[in-house]
Amino acid sequence: MDINIGDVIITKKPHPCGGNSWVVTRTGADIKMQCRTCSHVVMIDRSQCEKRIKKLIKAQDQQ
Ligand SMILES: [Zn+2]
Repeated sequence: MDINIGDVIITKKPHPCGGNSWVVTRTGADIKMQCRTCSHVVMIDRSQCEKRIKKLIKAQDQQ
């Protein structure tokens, strides 16, 4: 899966804050992403991240 900085990830399970959309802020072996609802930042490895993704919205496809 091609994940880039600025992409928005919609996760299958919502964050405890109730939000389920995240902005990618760093990529590599680990993906760093920030919750768009509460601004919490998490870093998880790429394979774990890909399992949690329901939808990936590319940076260029965002309004
Ligand atoms: Zn949150």
